[in-house]
Amino acid sequence: MEKTDILIVGGSAAGVTAAITVRRYYPQAKVTLIRKEEKVLIPCGIPYIFGTLGSPEKNLIPDTVLSKNNIDLIVDEVTSINKDAKDVTTSSGKTVKYEKLVLATGSLPLVPPIQGVELDNVFSVKKDVGYLTELLRALEKAEDVAIIGGGFIGLEFADECKKRKNLNNVTVIELLPHCLLLACDEEICIRVEKKLSERGVKILSNRKAKAILGEKKVEYVKLEDGQKIKADIVILGIGVIPNVKLARESGLKFDKKEGIWVDDFMRTSNESIFACGDCVQKRCYLSGVATATRLASQATTEARIAGANLFGIRRRINCAIGIFSTCFGELAIGSAGITERRAGEFGIDVVTAEVAAPDEHPGGMPGAQELGVKLVFEKDTSLLLGGQVYGGKSVGELTNFIGSMIQNKMRADEVCTFQMGTHPMLTASPVAYQVANAAQIAVVKMRKGQ
Ligand SMILES: Cc1cc2nc3c(=O)[nH]c(=O)nc-3n(C[C@H](O)[C@H](O)[C@H](O)COP(=O)(O)OP(=O)(O)OC[C@H]3O[C@@H](n4cnc5c(N)ncnc54)[C@H](O)[C@@H]3O)c2cc1C
Repeated sequence: MEKTDILIVGGSAAGVTAAITVRRYYPQAKVTLIRKEEKVLIPCGIPYIFGTLGSPEKNLIPDTVLSKNNIDLIVDEVTSINKDAKDVTTSSGKTVKYEKLVLATGSLPLVPPIQGVELDNVFSVKKDVGYLTELLRALEKAEDVAIIGGGFIGLEFADECKKRKNLNNVTVIELLPHCLLLACDEEICIRVEKKLSERGVKILSNRKAKAILGEKKVEYVKLEDGQKIKADIVILGIGVIPNVKLARESGLKFDKKEGIWVDDFMRTSNESIFACGDCVQKRCYLSGVATATRLASQATTEARIAGANLFGIRRRINCAIGIFSTCFGELAIGSAGITERRAGEFGIDVVTAEVAAPDEHPGGMPGAQELGVKLVFEKDTSLLLGGQVYGGKSVGELTNFIGSMIQNKMRADEVCTFQMGTHPMLTASPVAYQVANAAQIAVVKMRKGQ
């Protein structure tokens, strides 16, 4: 029997971050990480394997992250946890005893119950090198690809597939009126759809995939309205479900849709077991209800909390704000917190303001691009609830910065007067600074009672 002080199950974003955090807080502890796969993919890089990168091998988390931090690695699958004996067993028959256990078992792709999903050349987005190598080989021989699901994963896949010369038709089928509508307001979604159409991707929104047709291999996707979309390959990008298998079988508290139950300190219902990442439940920062958004950024934040708290509480989780960004060619978009549309669904009265200006100054600087910001404030309290951004590469960090304003519960006046640094080649002008000006417009609207 092997013994370790801290055992982490899962070797992706959450597991690795938890291990590094543990090492920083507990330098003397023996830390062991068990993961199923020989090689671990960078999950967010997966779509780029199929266009920009060209192979799964170029998208791996290097094991040196673990060795440099003196973390022992076991490649094996944990098959059971004995909470009383405080040990786990693996598929190869090993038993490993622990003082504290961290579950970072992640999520699995959701496969919809559509007729024909079992046909050859229907792929979900598994975080598995061998499986994605098969998808890559299949794409090399294909001409027509249909992607079911127009969220950010589906769209990133579509844009990357379109970069392959052999693919004539790349079609995205989205159930909602627009792609990305769960994360962005309509005007941003339309901007993205337009950009993808210019890049050759066909978008069929407000359409439902009813069946996948073919003899042995997929040939068509049939929509509810009867239309048939030709496809040599179908990629399912409709979301994920938390992987709660170990938690369920070991009697930890869980919900099969929401994930493993954890408290504000990332402790599960067993005091020696913590959990973090896609496998755990998340609550919306505004409503407190469970949210289905699962992001690597949130997973690593939770891991930094779990890793620090193992032998004494140091950190507490904030509810999930949901901060994400993506890009298609020169158009980047990002969203933090809730959208105007979502606020309406919650019945919250909001005031919104939008400002667009060049992202460098003067606007004639070579390479300057329009950068637009939309902010959503609660009408009664003037609290910042959400923000969306479009423009060039600065969108990613600007979205993070709006997320941090939401997390710090800033009100419109504070957003308007926050202190920023600017530079002609690096940022928008201090006069035209989009975040401050959007907040200013919102303040005026609120004063006028609009
Ligand atoms: C295509 C794609 C693109 C994405 N892009 C973004 C993005 O741009 N930004 C963003 O923030 N998020 C993005 N995400 C979401 C992000 O990938 C996930 O939030 C993240 O992977 C969660 O990390 P995790 O460590 O919790 O789980 P996972 O990545 O699912 O990893 C789980 C780990 O646990 C291991 N494991 C599970 N069970 C066992 C067991 N019994 N024994 C041993 N090991 C086990 C697995 O093998 C794996 O190593 C993307 C997701 C996908 C699929």
